[in-house]
Amino acid sequence: AMADCAATHASIAAAPNPAPRTQPEVDAIDIRSGLLREEFELYYQPKVTLAGCDPCGVEALLRWRHPRHGLLTPAAFLPQAEEAGLIDLLTMKVLRMALGHSLELRAGGNRLPISVNLSPLSLTNPDLADQIADAVRRSGLPPSAIVFEVTEQAEVADLSLALRVLLKLRLQGHRLSLDDYGAGHASILQMSRIPFSELKLDGRLVHNAWKRPHLEPLLRQAIASAQLLGMTSVAEGIETPEDWAFMRALGCDQAQGYLIARPMPFAQLAAWRPDAGALPEPGRPQQAAA
Ligand code: C2E
Ligand code: MG
Ligand code: MG
Ligand code: MG
Repeated sequence: AMADCAATHASIAAAPNPAPRTQPEVDAIDIRSGLLREEFELYYQPKVTLAGCDPCGVEALLRWRHPRHGLLTPAAFLPQAEEAGLIDLLTMKVLRMALGHSLELRAGGNRLPISVNLSPLSLTNPDLADQIADAVRRSGLPPSAIVFEVTEQAEVADLSLALRVLLKLRLQGHRLSLDDYGAGHASILQMSRIPFSELKLDGRLVHNAWKRPHLEPLLRQAIASAQLLGMTSVAEGIETPEDWAFMRALGCDQAQGYLIARPMPFAQLAAWRPDAGALPEPGRPQQAAA
């Protein structure tokens, strides 16, 4: 009997999500006009605890409702935005939208923190932390309402500047999350240099790990390191009951993935609930699903 709640969520997760067919060609001019026309929006994907299936946060994922190409995911435009020097404009747009949504959620009694992704390129902007502080202050929200995720996938051009920007955000009261762990270059040494609160194990490492025994020591080591450093561990890419059961058995703290919920428009988020009646009984031993 694997986590029943996750199995229940599969039916919610099965709702079709519009996805782009192919990668269209977009350029800096398109992105600028998309910003002016307010075509960017946020989808949200919840995270739940593996022990109790309790919601513990949501990740904001950027989408572009393009007038000709339909709903675009970041892969179709983020590289171009980074290249054109537009990434910080997008980051601040995302932050303002997330702050507005957080206020709306709180008005409805939902205080789940929202995670916002930062491009590694943004960490070379020494003014970013001040711009963020300004936007958060004007929203009236506590900084704890927004968590910043930084991918470990890319090499950071200026590590000491990146460290300063991240440290500043942490001192401003934001929690930091190390994203895509296992897919890139982060070492335990780097992890310990920045006060990250959360370690997100990359989906490519997590999904189907149960059938790749050589990955188990790696996952165990990552989860143990996170624990030693006082970080919460999150498994991304939980797509199947087997993924869920395996990561739960390894002692990972939280899960995110299609099995629990697909990214959804903000309008759907307020109504999204894990099925309380289907929560796994506390302390019940977990076994891999047949
Ligand atoms: P990420 O931060 O690692 O986000 C998780 C990605 O995995 C999302 O893709 C999400 O839709 C997808 N995902 C979630 N569950 C599953 C699953 O079970 N299986 C699989 N195969 N995938 C799953 P998405 O939305 O296309 O975003 C891709 C990446 O783009 C993100 O990876 C993040 O690095 C970046 N990104 C997204 N939004 C923003 C943003 O606002 N700013 C910046 N700078 N980057 C963003
Ligand atoms: Mg992320
Ligand atoms: Mg990730
Ligand atoms: Mg990723």
